[in-house]
Amino acid sequence: MPELPEVQTVVNGIKSKINKHKILRFKKYISKLRYPIQKNLSSKVEGSKVTTVFRKAKYIIINLSNNKSLVIHLGMSGRIIIVKDNKKKFKHTHFSIFFNKNLVLQFIDPRRFGYICITKTVSLERHRFFVNLGVEPLIEKFNDRYLLNVTKNKKSPIKNIIMNQKYIVGVGNIYASEALFLSGINPKNMGCSLTRQDCIKLVKAIKNVLKKSIKLGGSSISDHTMISGKMGYFQNKLQVYGREGLKCRKRTCQSPIIRIVIARRSTFYCTECQK
Ligand SMILES: [Zn+2]
Repeated sequence: MPELPEVQTVVNGIKSKINKHKILRFKKYISKLRYPIQKNLSSKVEGSKVTTVFRKAKYIIINLSNNKSLVIHLGMSGRIIIVKDNKKKFKHTHFSIFFNKNLVLQFIDPRRFGYICITKTVSLERHRFFVNLGVEPLIEKFNDRYLLNVTKNKKSPIKNIIMNQKYIVGVGNIYASEALFLSGINPKNMGCSLTRQDCIKLVKAIKNVLKKSIKLGGSSISDHTMISGKMGYFQNKLQVYGREGLKCRKRTCQSPIIRIVIARRSTFYCTECQK
């Protein structure tokens, strides 16, 4: 499933190609993805211009000149490709947005858990997708004070807390394991056991791991086509995730990484480095 860095990579790629472009046509090839595609969607986007593209949690937002916003989610397997001259419709393309200068955005999603909808830009914050979301991890508001406040009375494992979208958006399973390793915190530790120092380290680790992945993901985009929603090169740099039985990457440690299940999700950590 695409996580925050992958979505940011998609956003960066899309933005560089379609910003300021005019939408000539929207065409769907299916009536329903995860949710039905609004019947009047095409009439609400055609003729308007893209004013900006950004990420909000794991959603791609395309603001339009008619004060509406397209909201796209990649679901489990969604990808976006932008092609010139639309010579080919890829398999599993469920909708296409045709722009001027012959650019076409195709939404490809074999498992159909993705979705698209249109809403008024002014009411985006109150949209049901966004109204209950916590803080963005890459902004200043997500800091040690915030994390300490969120964790201080909680008896659930810290890994669950940082993955809970109500508190912080976009920290998925992989990045949660990685950030906890980098900050030396055992993923099973209860939220309330975290000290201020732990929170400082964990906030820093979450930001670093996400930023690094965005940076590496960005470099995997080629000039002409962009297929995204996959992990970029970051997957080669994982410290603990998927490394069960392999040696800890801290040179002074080398203990085997273990895998446990927390809240039905695979969790990887080093028993020596994470106390
Ligand atoms: Zn270790």
